[in-house]
Amino acid sequence: MEIEDTVAMFRQVAQSMIDNTDLLTKADQVIGDGDHGIGMRRGFEQVLKDLSDDKFSTLGDLLKKIGYGLMNAAGGASGVIFGSLFIGAAKALGEQNHLDANNLTILLQRGLESVKKRGKAQPGDKTMVDALEPAAKAAANQSSLTECITAAAEAARVGMEETKNMVASFGRAKSLGDRALGSPDPGSISIFLILNSMKNYILTSIK
Ligand code: ADP
Ligand code: MG
Repeated sequence: MEIEDTVAMFRQVAQSMIDNTDLLTKADQVIGDGDHGIGMRRGFEQVLKDLSDDKFSTLGDLLKKIGYGLMNAAGGASGVIFGSLFIGAAKALGEQNHLDANNLTILLQRGLESVKKRGKAQPGDKTMVDALEPAAKAAANQSSLTECITAAAEAARVGMEETKNMVASFGRAKSLGDRALGSPDPGSISIFLILNSMKNYILTSIK
């Protein structure tokens, strides 16, 4: 997929995250402080603006813009965490200017590494890592971009569902202990929504 289409895809992702503000707010009201929806909305409004104003010729520049937009505008733990996902991916993809199965796998794997390094969460801690890690694993070894994003989005959905069975080790949900059981982690919902929106774009644009 060409860089212009990749920019258009992330504009659609940003709009979809803005549209899901209420869902994310409600999820964070259950096990957190209720600000995840607003944070994501602020962050992705900045991304939408940046991706409409600027021109991009490499995946590195594009992903860096998204990462810093989130980091600066979203605020909270997730601004830093989601920002480092995209900034880590930007460093790994640098001068690349096509999104294919291989580059998408690198984006998810190196994004995940960057998130873990920054946030220190491990699988099972009831964070977005529980959706991102299975997505990165599922993306590997797929032969086409459509298969790659379909596998990643599905794995993120399953991972997000599984956070319902976890007790949190980070943030406010930690103090809830067993009371967080049954409710999914808001950040893992965001990872699923981002990948699902990428999937929707890719499946309709590549035939
Ligand atoms: P805050 O925790 O500052 O209120 P948000 O509500 O926007 O920030 O985001 C909460 C989400 O951020 C959590 O649901 C979780 O997925 C993610 N998160 C928080 N801390 C970490 C961490 N250390 N590593 C990975 N993800 C984290
Ligand atoms: Mg919160």
